Amino acid sequence: MALIVQKFGGSSVRDAERVRNVAGIITDTYKKGNQVVVVVSAQGDTTDDLIEKAREINPNPSKREMDMLLATGEQISISLLAMAIEHMGYPVVSLTGWQAGFHTDSSHSRARIKKIETERLHKELDKNHIVIVAGFQGISRYGDITTLGRGGSDTSAVALAAELKAELCQIYTDVDGVYTADPRIVKTARKLDEISFDEMLELATLGAQVLHNRSVEMAKKYNVNLEVVSSLERKPGTKVKEVVSMEKMLIRGVTRDNNVARIAVVGLPDKPGIAFRVFSLMSKYNINVDIILQSIGRDNTKDISFTVSEDNLEQAVAVLNDNLSALEAERIEVNDNVCKLSVVGAGMQTNAGVATKMFEALYEAGININMISTSEIKISVLIDEEDSDKALRVVHDAFIN
Ligand code: ADP
Ligand code: ASP
Ligand code: MG
Repeated sequence: MALIVQKFGGSSVRDAERVRNVAGIITDTYKKGNQVVVVVSAQGDTTDDLIEKAREINPNPSKREMDMLLATGEQISISLLAMAIEHMGYPVVSLTGWQAGFHTDSSHSRARIKKIETERLHKELDKNHIVIVAGFQGISRYGDITTLGRGGSDTSAVALAAELKAELCQIYTDVDGVYTADPRIVKTARKLDEISFDEMLELATLGAQVLHNRSVEMAKKYNVNLEVVSSLERKPGTKVKEVVSMEKMLIRGVTRDNNVARIAVVGLPDKPGIAFRVFSLMSKYNINVDIILQSIGRDNTKDISFTVSEDNLEQAVAVLNDNLSALEAERIEVNDNVCKLSVVGAGMQTNAGVATKMFEALYEAGININMISTSEIKISVLIDEEDSDKALRVVHDAFIN
């Protein structure tokens, strides 16, 4: 008998038919003699619809109340899924995040899991129940409902698998695995049988939404046996693991993130300590800064440009404008019509030609590069958002065919 954690995303439970389909997958696993703990997301576009509902009432709601609202989406799907399983004649119980023992810090809308108290879960498993847990949510030490950030149900599932020492953690979704690029945009994308934790972590962080990046981080840390599989077709998916044995590929995947903005602080004095002042302001307000570029301006001035997530743009600009004179800067310029395009692959550590190949593909397609950043296993470029689909395709096809 094995303990298996199965996670089903929003599209996998979007309507009654899909809920019944998922109930079938779960009960098939249970019938084989396994203990099954299930994590579910909100149905279809429920989370987006709830966000829209909130905006109609208050354009700037508190994060605490947003979490209270968004957590209801998952509460609907756990109960409906439990009812479907009940109807099939199997013993089942649904649990909210806090009932399942998910304790988080109190950073509403992007909370981190601190511990999972598994007493209740074990009690239910001992009674031979299939346990359905609401993903994406937990409780803070003040007793308030928190959420883990968009896509966070993957992290709920991996955290549970780690805590319960599950034999396997399956992430069921609407594609049949991890591809070399988003298969909805790049028709030539190839499915990967395996991908390493490090490569998957980069892809997830750089925009491939198929797995929440924290789920990959956690799977690596606790060596969770993780796979991405389709909830619609029963066939092998993609294994995410420490070391991959598959064919050597220069690049494992190409991804893009349109949720970024470029900020330029223009006309700074060209003297020591200026970059420090700009970025210490950003870190004071917990604003993550990504690609950075410094350029020489006129008359002993310089410009510092950097990218931030669009979610932090408004705050970043407000903070910079409030401190314009302290920074001795002329003005702040913003461009949110940009896209970060990245290639990821452990193979590039030992191969010098990757950047050239990427830049050549973009050049041939007439796409201009605004900024560049590299690390051991990735190269990212900032381009205009309108070029992003085309760029994804040409760069993908330059490396993978
Ligand atoms: P779920 O609702 O199951 O959590 P998501 O929408 O969060 O599903 O993630 C699945 C989607 O991720 C796919 O439909 C696909 O369009 C997108 N995606 C982006 N990059 C990739 C990739 N490299 N491989 C597979 N899917 C990807
Ligand atoms: N329902 C949440 C979201 O849409 C969490 C998830 O799907 O993982 O972001
Ligand atoms: Mg998801």
